[in-house]
Amino acid sequence: MSVLLFDIDGTLLNAGGAGQVAMERVLFEDFGVSGPIHDIPAAGRTDRAITEDLLRFYGLPLSEEVWDRFLTRYFSRLPAGLGCTSGLVLPGVRSLLDQLQQDERLELGLLTGNFAEGARLKLQHFGLGDYFSGGAYGDAHLERNDVAREAWGLVKSWRPQVQPSDVWVIGDTPSDIACGKAIGARTVAVATGIFSIADLAPHQPDYLIASLEDRAWLDEVG
Ligand SMILES: [Mg+2]
Repeated sequence: MSVLLFDIDGTLLNAGGAGQVAMERVLFEDFGVSGPIHDIPAAGRTDRAITEDLLRFYGLPLSEEVWDRFLTRYFSRLPAGLGCTSGLVLPGVRSLLDQLQQDERLELGLLTGNFAEGARLKLQHFGLGDYFSGGAYGDAHLERNDVAREAWGLVKSWRPQVQPSDVWVIGDTPSDIACGKAIGARTVAVATGIFSIADLAPHQPDYLIASLEDRAWLDEVG
């Protein structure tokens, strides 16, 4: 019995920058700030951490009122952003999920830095919304390792007898590998995001693959 926890951006899909564009639109059009954003990395980080950095960058207060307004506007702008970018489901993903879903020994979940509602909107847009039992998200956590710890709690609630080594964390960044290791899970790094095989190799995932078309790692899942 295994539980597979998937990252979203760069792993299951490429949203064509829709999330970032929607965040920038909210800042420029709803909060009235201007000027280019720089030095705020996004890959592998939580939306909470990215958004806090953005608000700080523009000198906006991290108050509950600002936070609520930002989220409301972001979730209302994201669907339009998804509709007009050149996003795609990454190679092998749909057939892999179809295959895994048939296997009753497996449970599929999400371990992502996305806000939960952002994750739902992205997966729904690309027709991937129905594969997952649930997930841990980046709404409250600044550190991805804390998202992984929340995911582990969820895994235990789904399948109490599961051990950490029965859990697989599949993602496209060094942070995905690190957070999988933080909970004792096995890790699959896939070079379909901004990190290449050579970038990911030093972080020593259990499996390092070019895309989810490569299924050799599945021989160990069961
Ligand atoms: Mg990712």
